[in-house]
Amino acid sequence: MNTIPYEPVKRLAVMADMAGCPNRCRHCWLGHKPNGSMSREDFREIAAEFRRYRDERGDPIERLGFFSWWREPDFRSDYRELWELEKELSDPGEAKRFELLSTWRLARDETYAPWAASVGPKVCQITFFGMEETTDWAMGRKGAFRDQLSAAKRCRDAGIEPRWQLFPLKRSLGELDEFQKLMEDAGVKSFFLNGFTPEGAGIDLWDDRLEKEDLAAIPPELKARSQDGLRSLGVPERELFGKLSEEQSPPQIGVQIPALAVDASFDIYPNLAEPAAWWRLGNLRTDGVEKVMRVFKNRGTPGMRANEEIPLGVLVRRFGDPEGNKLFTRGDYLALLLHRWGEAEYRPDR
Ligand code: SF4
Repeated sequence: MNTIPYEPVKRLAVMADMAGCPNRCRHCWLGHKPNGSMSREDFREIAAEFRRYRDERGDPIERLGFFSWWREPDFRSDYRELWELEKELSDPGEAKRFELLSTWRLARDETYAPWAASVGPKVCQITFFGMEETTDWAMGRKGAFRDQLSAAKRCRDAGIEPRWQLFPLKRSLGELDEFQKLMEDAGVKSFFLNGFTPEGAGIDLWDDRLEKEDLAAIPPELKARSQDGLRSLGVPERELFGKLSEEQSPPQIGVQIPALAVDASFDIYPNLAEPAAWWRLGNLRTDGVEKVMRVFKNRGTPGMRANEEIPLGVLVRRFGDPEGNKLFTRGDYLALLLHRWGEAEYRPDR
């Protein structure tokens, strides 16, 4: 095993899954953990633990940001207070808003979009999988499609640009002309076609994952409007297999800003991959912050070690399909290989 040289933690985000999510999207890389209900005191306690932490040289984490959500932002009715609390607990500038809002709340709470416009993003992502029945099915909730349409309108009215993203599925290919018309009628300015990562819940959406031949069924207008074309849908697995099957270096998937996710039972995961057993760092309450941070800094979970140590070619040859025709980006494919490795090593009888 590689020895990891000492490094202070310069920056860390800690995301608490205080309320979970109203949806159960079938592509969700975070999976379908039950919604919890952490209190604000729990959130303060999490922040205090990370503030108290000192590493092996006695150094604190230099900059900390705390987030009251990990799945749907602003899902809780006290979202305004939670935003104030995030700022209070975080180092200056580390509490942040992203191009994500609760579309569930946008559709239900008239005051939310103007508030969001005052504190946060100028753009909000709005997700579709096809038309109504398919989007409701894929988001795991009846009414989700209509909520997305209402959310887009409320964003626009509040001065937030709705950026539509479409995850085309095999089952929705026949709906895409109608979807294109829907976008035109709604005056959508910002749009992209996206692919999903085959991990978390997304691994079970395998049959709906597109193959190369399916790309011909995407209307040319949609391809032309997509801000990065078809790039996010990827290439057939066999191309990636051919390129990567002799690769000696490990996957080394990484992130720009390290973050830890605390789920409703205080289990903690790094933001590298799906929250599966082989990535779990420990439990904040039963293991304590020192142990969790030691495992994190030493890249000590089985998944983190595999990511740093197993040659990619070994993973490709063991878990890939040289004839595979499903589409993946390189990042998707690494996620798939690490998922299959974890299932084989840690849940072999599943
Ligand atoms: S993809 Fe987002 S909205 Fe859908 S279930 Fe996952 S966290 Fe919730």
